[in-house]
Amino acid sequence: MKIGTPKEIFEGENRVAMTPESALQLQKLGHSCVIETGAGAAAGFDDAAYEAADVEVVQSAAALYEAADVVAKVRPPSEDEVKHLRAGQTLISMFNPAGNTELMEAAAEKGATVMAMDMVPRISRAQKMDALSSMANIAGYRAVIEAGNNFGRFFTGQITAAGKVPPAKVLVVGAGVAGLAAIGTSTSLGAITLAFDVRPEVAEQVESMGAEFVYLAFEEEQQDGSASGGYASVSSPEFREAQLAKFRELAPDVDIVITTALIPNREAPELWTEDMVQAMKPGSVIVDLAAEKGGNCKLTKMDEKIVTDNGVTIIGYTDFPSRMATQASTLYATNIRHLMADLTPEKDGVIDHDMEDDVIRGATITHEKEVTFPPPPPKVA
Ligand code: NAD
Repeated sequence: MKIGTPKEIFEGENRVAMTPESALQLQKLGHSCVIETGAGAAAGFDDAAYEAADVEVVQSAAALYEAADVVAKVRPPSEDEVKHLRAGQTLISMFNPAGNTELMEAAAEKGATVMAMDMVPRISRAQKMDALSSMANIAGYRAVIEAGNNFGRFFTGQITAAGKVPPAKVLVVGAGVAGLAAIGTSTSLGAITLAFDVRPEVAEQVESMGAEFVYLAFEEEQQDGSASGGYASVSSPEFREAQLAKFRELAPDVDIVITTALIPNREAPELWTEDMVQAMKPGSVIVDLAAEKGGNCKLTKMDEKIVTDNGVTIIGYTDFPSRMATQASTLYATNIRHLMADLTPEKDGVIDHDMEDDVIRGATITHEKEVTFPPPPPKVA
C-alpha cells in the first residue's frame, strides 16, 4: 500500500504525521511512502530528507490524496480534506469524533475508512500507538518551559557570590500523563514541586519523582476520586471545598501553578479561582493545560497569555505539542507507524483491517460505508 502525508492546513500547526525515519520503518512493513512538498518543513524535515528516505514528493494536496491508499495526518480533516477521500481509502488522524459527527458521516458516505488516533484504546498493548499520551507528555514538559520563560527567577535555589537565590515553588494540579511530565521537568530543573490529584493512587508516583503530594484533611477512602479505567470522576461538594481550601492556603506561597485536571467527556473542573489568582505574588505564572476544555483557572483565556492587574501571568495556549514540532512529529509518526504495523501483520504491504482486534476496532470510526463510533468497550485491559 502507499502511505501518504499531506501538509497540515490548520493555521499554526507545525507537526507532520510522517518523518523520514518513520517512512523507512513503514517501508519495512512492505509499504511505499509519499508526501506533499513542504509537509515536514515546519517540523525540521525538508523534502530532500524525505527523498533520501525513498519517499516520493508530490506537489499538491490533490496529488497526494490521489496517490495514497492510506492518508496519515495530525489534525482532524477539514470539510475540503474529507472531499478528497474516496471509497476504499483509509484516513488516520486525530478526529474528535464526538465533536465532529458531520465530518465522520461525510467520510462514511464516501466509503473511506477513518481511524481516529484519539480513539486508540488506552490499554497496555496499545501504549505505543497512544498519541494522546505522547502529546500530553510533550505538553507537560513544555508547560514548565513556558512557565520558566515567563518567570523572572531561577527554578533551582543557588548560593552565588552575588547573593542567595531561593528555589521556585511549583504546584502541579492533576497528575495524569501531562501532570507527571510537568512534575518530572520541574523537579529536574530544581524547583520545589508540589502536586495534587483526586486519584490517591498517584501519590506514590509523584513522590518517587521527587515531588511532594498534597494531602487533604480527609479520610483516605473519601479522598478517592477515581472512576473506571484510571480516570477521575466529579468530586463531591465536600471534597471540592476541602481541595479549594487547600489551594487557597497554597496560593500566596507558590510561584508557578501548572493545571492539567480533566474529567473525561466534561468541561474542565474550575480549581484555581479568581481569589487564588489575586492572592498570588506578582511575577507568578499559571499555565492552564486544560484551556481547551474551558480551563482549570477561572481567568484563563484560551490560546492567549494575559497578565492580571496584580502581575500574575496566565498562559492558556493549546498548541504546546506544535511548539515542539520536531519532537512531537517524531513521536506522533512513531505512534502511526505502530498502528500500521498492527494493520500489516504479515509485513507484506497488505492491510488486514481486523475489526475483531480491540485496538483496530476501537480506533475505527467509519468502515465500509458505516459510522462505527462509538466502539464497544475493549475486551482486555
Ligand atoms: P486526563 O488528561 O483525563 O486527566 C488529567 C488528570 O487530572 C488525571 O490524573 C485526573 O485524575 C486529574 N483530575 C481530574 N479532576 C481533578 C481535580 N478536581 N483535581 C485534581 N486533579 C484532577 O488523564 P490522562 O493523563 O489521560 O490519564 C488518566 C489515566 O489514564 C491515568 O490513570 C493513566 O495512567 C491512564 N492511562 C493509561 C494508558 C494506557 O494504559 N495505555 C495511557 C494513558 C493514560
